[in-house]
Amino acid sequence: MSENENLTEKDTEVVSKNFIEQIIEKDLAEGVYDTVHTRFPPEPNGYLHIGHAKSILLNYGLAKEYGGKFNMRFDDTNPTKERIEFVESIKKDIQWLGADWEDRLFFASNYFEQMYEAAVKLIKKGKAYVSDLSAEQIREYRGTLTEPGKDDPNCNRSVEENLKLFEDMKNGVYQDGEKVLRARIDMSSPNINMRDPVIYRVAHMTHHNTGDTWCIYPMYDFAHPIEDAIEGITHSICTLEFEDHRPLYDWVVRELEYPHPPKQIEFAKLYLTNVVTGKRYIKKLVEEGIVDGWDDPRLVSIAALRRRGFTPRSIQKFVELCGVSKSNSSVDYAMLEYCIREDLKLSKPRMMAVLDPIKLVIDNYPEDQVEMLDVSNNLENEALGTRKVPFGRELYIDREDFMEEPPKKYFRLFPGNEVRLMNAYFVTCTSFVKDETGKVTEVHCTYDPETKCGTGFTGRKVKGTIHWVPAAQAVKAEVRLYENIIDEEKGVYNEDGSLNLNPNSLTVLKDCYVEPALADAKAYDSFQFVRQGFFCVDAKDSKEDALVFNRIVSLKSSYTLPK
Ligand code: ATP
Ligand code: MG
Repeated sequence: MSENENLTEKDTEVVSKNFIEQIIEKDLAEGVYDTVHTRFPPEPNGYLHIGHAKSILLNYGLAKEYGGKFNMRFDDTNPTKERIEFVESIKKDIQWLGADWEDRLFFASNYFEQMYEAAVKLIKKGKAYVSDLSAEQIREYRGTLTEPGKDDPNCNRSVEENLKLFEDMKNGVYQDGEKVLRARIDMSSPNINMRDPVIYRVAHMTHHNTGDTWCIYPMYDFAHPIEDAIEGITHSICTLEFEDHRPLYDWVVRELEYPHPPKQIEFAKLYLTNVVTGKRYIKKLVEEGIVDGWDDPRLVSIAALRRRGFTPRSIQKFVELCGVSKSNSSVDYAMLEYCIREDLKLSKPRMMAVLDPIKLVIDNYPEDQVEMLDVSNNLENEALGTRKVPFGRELYIDREDFMEEPPKKYFRLFPGNEVRLMNAYFVTCTSFVKDETGKVTEVHCTYDPETKCGTGFTGRKVKGTIHWVPAAQAVKAEVRLYENIIDEEKGVYNEDGSLNLNPNSLTVLKDCYVEPALADAKAYDSFQFVRQGFFCVDAKDSKEDALVFNRIVSLKSSYTLPK
């Protein structure tokens, strides 16, 4: 079965509704909601990665599918970790992926006033109280999975006293950790999240958006449902680790009496084999200078994938193939590679590039002659047209396409053997030159003018076809080859807990030659280099007169889509 048929088969499978679509359709049918409104709520504390792409495209896709809306919201309620630098990178990445929030870009920190009012409302209902317990005492009182918790000594304070204390908290009367506001729920609940969770804490910190206006900040489990309710979110999609928090989410929206309470739905995170996705690890690699920033092409941050040459379409396809599920599992990195290959195969021109050059001299070709050969850009997609490639007496070929003493079944160049120069003529190797170290520096051959490509020559056949670039007109370039940065076969971690890095994750080839047609290639332009893979112009290091190409992916793989 070809890869194409395989893909179509999988596509039809994906068409059946996932469990979130089923919930939404039921809600719409039963009139629980009359619209679909989703959001993507990142904390601006790092760059987004492929896992976030899944969440973004899922939320955006559902809104689009049901004619609803998609909000972009920075969940910036925690002043300790957030940095404004990340806000810009996150926006850029989401736009690039194609998820359009239109005019709905929000910051949770703009709701601090409403969150404060919500807390006051709970206090007035007798559903929240100010506690004097320290963080450690709260932990002690909380109980365990098998033992119920103990009541907070302050849980019976009067509404008036709680209101006064909470206002004092807001007005800076207390130091960090001196007082907290707790929801009054149930200290003996089997779900520990429901044992009077802390919903507000004192933190004398400057916030990137609200500055020093606040010295109390809401906890995530309290803030998030309020943010959703304020924005009219219907389906609040998050990952599995929040499943146990859902009763608290529901409690908050119920006690605050929102007329159209949002609903939390959890799905399994996307994990990829052989790569690091955890923000913690990526940060370590970046900070220790092991990689070249958050967009190092070996990473799977969205910025890195973009720089490496992945397209939004390939990531959309990948996310689609992953599907949405309730159980954790990891996806083979090869599936992501499959998606980019499929996307580029027919859409990109196929050019010739020589990564490890060795000179080929055609001794019987006229010295000053240059022929402009007509070459198809992509034989499988004629719409990409043709280009001219100059051909002359001196060419570069790849070192591995010549052998002095070939093994069996080696059909490329060796003394006495005839091969086809792709898009040009048949040549027969006549001799070669070595330097004093024994390294081959030049290969000599003769060509047969009768065998020109495109003239219908059928006189004889050759077994090998090799690519080349014209020595006089070729453009020098740097090419970077990548392998996964973590070698999973050898284990992700070393015994001492450090990451077990693949020493071959980056290979830099400085003396490559590419066809002259590539001289004008711009950042993010991508091409197939025949027999080598798909390559993209590096947006960070490539210069007009010093091209740098990243290998996105090799041409072939034994990977087939899972059934
Ligand atoms: P942190 O450890 O800082 O919380 P995070 O990766 O959870 O990191 P958030 O900014 O909180 O980062 O995530 C934003 C959204 O992306 C959340 O809704 C989260 O559930 C979702 N998300 C994060 N990682 C993945 C993943 N691997 N697969 C799918 N969704 C993810
Ligand atoms: Mg998070």
